[in-house]
Amino acid sequence: MNYRVLLYYNYTTIENPETFAKEHKAFCRDLDLKGRILVASEGINGTLSGTIEATNQYMAAMLADERFKDTYFKMDESEGHAFKKLFVRPREELVALNLEEDVDPKQITGKYLEPKAFREALVSEDTVVIDARNDYEYDLGHFRGAIRPEIRNFRELPTWIRDNKEQFMDKKIVTYCTGGIRCEKFSGWLLREGFEDVAQLHGGITAYGKDETTRGEFWDGKMYVFDERISVEINQVDKKVIGKEWFDGTPCERYINCSNPECNRQMLVSEENEVKYLGACSIECARYPQNRYVKKHQINATEWAQHLTELENQLVQ
Ligand SMILES: [Zn+2]
Repeated sequence: MNYRVLLYYNYTTIENPETFAKEHKAFCRDLDLKGRILVASEGINGTLSGTIEATNQYMAAMLADERFKDTYFKMDESEGHAFKKLFVRPREELVALNLEEDVDPKQITGKYLEPKAFREALVSEDTVVIDARNDYEYDLGHFRGAIRPEIRNFRELPTWIRDNKEQFMDKKIVTYCTGGIRCEKFSGWLLREGFEDVAQLHGGITAYGKDETTRGEFWDGKMYVFDERISVEINQVDKKVIGKEWFDGTPCERYINCSNPECNRQMLVSEENEVKYLGACSIECARYPQNRYVKKHQINATEWAQHLTELENQLVQ
């Protein structure tokens, strides 16, 4: 394990995000770092992979900068780069909540709960724990008992909360997300919306999984990550698999994208069913002319047609 994956954010003022992004990209490239960094006038959000030495140099440089001196870096060991490329991009905002009026976490945000206090909140009767991520992230893994908002995208969260207000009105609310950045805004928004007791998991699930006292306890499944690893383990105490296989519903944690490039649906599929369905989510997608699985495995037209006929016959029975 000579490599490391860094995950961090900092809500801080960055003047001229465009210029900053350009210079920062050159700096990262010199260190041979790969990954994705978003830069906005409200701050920075990044996930990077590189050698231990390069990531150390990167963190030292960031912490020496007045604007980023209190950045909290979450780290994972890795066998190589977790990204293929490097992107450093200026953006209007770091996370989009789709609000009429934006929330500035430097002005208003929920109380920070450290992992141990968060674990207590998880089992407390007067507290509701809300997962602030997308539905497909929740489905692969989440905290036991956490609420799963019915949303496909983080932007839909405010509307969903307003529609389901009565569920949480008299309770303490605790929110969590991957690394903490989404909760900074979301918990601030909840306070502004009139919820009185709002807290957030400091450092997100990533920090909770690494914490010596909690060791990921009460986390079920795996955690979805936005890099080539797709998912990582969190619970070192009493792990349960909760992901369900796309076709047969058996326990599964293996993510693939549908082999029809037009569909590209992300789904949990066993190796066996990947072969059976030619890497597709449905027979329609398995039949699609530009099917990537067929191309990759050099299946010729006759074999392909035969496979589809057999599959159709099986499904009819
Ligand atoms: Zn499909």
